[in-house]
Amino acid sequence: MAPATERPLPLPDPLSQPFWDAARAHRLCVQACLQCNHLAYPPEAACRKCGGSDLHFRDVSGRATLHSWTVLHDPPSPGFQDRLPVILAVVELEEQKGLLLSTNLIDAALETLRINLPLEAWFEDVGNDCALIQFRVREA
Ligand SMILES: [Zn+2]
Repeated sequence: MAPATERPLPLPDPLSQPFWDAARAHRLCVQACLQCNHLAYPPEAACRKCGGSDLHFRDVSGRATLHSWTVLHDPPSPGFQDRLPVILAVVELEEQKGLLLSTNLIDAALETLRINLPLEAWFEDVGNDCALIQFRVREA
């Protein structure tokens, strides 16, 4: 495979830094509102449900279902030539209906993809400072 450094890597900002710190430790976390318990991803400055600004990060299971996907047969940028086809996916985390996360699916046969396919998070270490969150099919 091409070196991970050829692929675009996340550039955390103060709001998303805890998310990427958790990913580096192979944990998936999202924001939770202390006022109403609404979960949010991507990180927000205020709760979209109640407007509260007291948000903290909470680990989630990494279990999800496939909400939508598309398949790239050409590399979207350098570093993807030996990863084709690239499956771009939107997954729904099991902790909350409508809690969506954009990601990649790995090790998935295109002909088996379907809405609500059970998935699990998988973490790919890229260098010492970063892990990318991807999803793969969850065996029953
Ligand atoms: Zn709230």
